[in-house]
Amino acid sequence: MGQATRKVVVLPGDGIGQEIVPQAVRVMAIMAKRHGITITTEEHLVGGTAYDKSGTPLPTGTLEACKTADAVLLGAVGGPKWEKLDYSVRPERGLLGLRKELELFANLRPARLFPQLVGASSLKPEVVEGIDVMVVRELTGDIYFGTPRGVTGAGDQRRGVNTMVYTAPEIERIARKAFEVARVRGKKLCSVDKANVLETTELWRNVVTEVHRDYPDVQLSHMYVDNAAMQLVRWPKQFDVMVTGNIFGDILSDEASMLTGSIGMLPSASLGERYAMYEPIHGSAPDIAGKDLANPIATILSVGMMFRYTFGIAQAEAEVEAAVSTVLDQGARTADIAAKGEPTIGCKAMGDRIVAALSR
Ligand code: NAD
Repeated sequence: MGQATRKVVVLPGDGIGQEIVPQAVRVMAIMAKRHGITITTEEHLVGGTAYDKSGTPLPTGTLEACKTADAVLLGAVGGPKWEKLDYSVRPERGLLGLRKELELFANLRPARLFPQLVGASSLKPEVVEGIDVMVVRELTGDIYFGTPRGVTGAGDQRRGVNTMVYTAPEIERIARKAFEVARVRGKKLCSVDKANVLETTELWRNVVTEVHRDYPDVQLSHMYVDNAAMQLVRWPKQFDVMVTGNIFGDILSDEASMLTGSIGMLPSASLGERYAMYEPIHGSAPDIAGKDLANPIATILSVGMMFRYTFGIAQAEAEVEAAVSTVLDQGARTADIAAKGEPTIGCKAMGDRIVAALSR
């Protein structure tokens, strides 16, 4: 039987995206070889760099390429150079456009703390040691997209409206994703809502409970969002997978990420029925761009997620995580994760170390 050939569209984007993505591509090539798949890559422009070249942050060629790919690997978009542009052509519109056009409705954000970095968290070591939480956020519905919306009237009569809306099928598809993720992790799913006040989320709770019938091996609990926000900082280890709507997920996924204290370490996956995009959770870090200071680990771990969720090779993700752990054990630190006085290495050198750990 011949090797399976997969296509990955690579979008470095702006700022440190140009530095971290090449390191992740090196890791991708090693993992492909090791697991017997052939990956062809195609690089395209997105964000501010795309705007500079073609007047739009999401050129048609980029979007079309993504639509023919098995997966998209993205760095980051944005930067001060493009901050004054009209909202419609800002770099961030490129990212939002991709999410919308590729119908990426499920955002998976793991917040896992490597024990070597326990000191980077602002919480006590005993609270965060060993945390491994996955937040599954619905990405294409909710109050961010519901209508009517807008501000009407003038002066004292001004009135602002946004509409929280979810249909049962929208809830069902994100619930299924979350149960499937929980099934291959700790088999515990906590659904977060505000069903005591908001009818939309009462529907959310009912549909999640109905979908649970198909996943009896997963333990389901429900939690109100205010309590969930508190429990995440009180005792985050109680959580395995959390699933929630777009607005609650926006806030809770940032809160969960920050438990680890190191933004340069956190990957993410955005999944739809047909397409998938993998990217670090951080932005383009213009303050350190072009200086070989960026931490490439979040993007490298995003490649690990690609192997698990797009190529179905969970072992590859574990191997990437193990290589990261090995180099941390060896004391390799980029500036963002170094303790005071610790020696640091650059982006490329961190890539070299991880490649070496994987090649042994
Ligand atoms: P940011 O995540 O880019 O940076 C926040 C801080 O974390 C900075 O001090 C930065 O140096 C540091 N940092 C981030 N990633 C790092 C890494 N890999 N290694 C070392 N240090 C790292 O957030 P910001 O400064 O608020 O935004 C900068 C730009 O990025 C803005 O234009 C914003 O719109 C954009 N942005 C893009 C995305 C995305 O593409 N997904 C996400 C967030 C922000």
